[in-house]
Amino acid sequence: MSNKCDQCGVCCSLFLINLSESEYYSGKYKTQLEKLGLIKNFSLASESGSNILKQKKDGSCFYLKKNSCSIHKIRPQVCREFFCASKAKKFQEMINQIKKKR
Ligand code: SF4
Repeated sequence: MSNKCDQCGVCCSLFLINLSESEYYSGKYKTQLEKLGLIKNFSLASESGSNILKQKKDGSCFYLKKNSCSIHKIRPQVCREFFCASKAKKFQEMINQIKKKR
């Protein structure tokens, strides 16, 4: 894997994206359970999965368009932190999953 994103789209199709508290309440993002409305207690929102970014029917991120992030400039913090060429231990399991899908 290179140090540059080759826009394979695999990471945006494999993992659930949990919004932080400020992201969840910002109103900028569509979430899986948005029809239920915002949950005032973020712990409850998080436990129920209400802070998970909306997915398409195939399980990929709602904002993934033609293997590219359509909200790149305001993408959630977890998306900013992750990179498939990362050497950080905390990402190794995710990177292994990506390798299996490629
Ligand atoms: S918000 Fe953008 S970077 Fe994050 S998973 Fe969705 S498409 Fe990928």
